[in-house]
Amino acid sequence: MARYQCPDCSYVYDEVRGEPHEGFPPNTPWAQVPEDWACPDCAVRDKPDFIPLDSDEVEETFEPQSSPGEE
Ligand SMILES: [Zn+2]
Repeated sequence: MARYQCPDCSYVYDEVRGEPHEGFPPNTPWAQVPEDWACPDCAVRDKPDFIPLDSDEVEETFEPQSSPGEE
């Protein structure tokens, strides 16, 4: 599941949570949200303006701490 953030305010639409107040129950995919749906927070931005957030891809960069091993 993905999340989408309004570029104008900090509102984030989470597909897992949906937006029950807007008529979208939890697990409503972003694709089912109407194109003319406006941000419920600022009502300025529409769906196409929203920015996808990388929620599934948690980059974990393991940098092994190599001890100098000075003797
Ligand atoms: Zn907004």
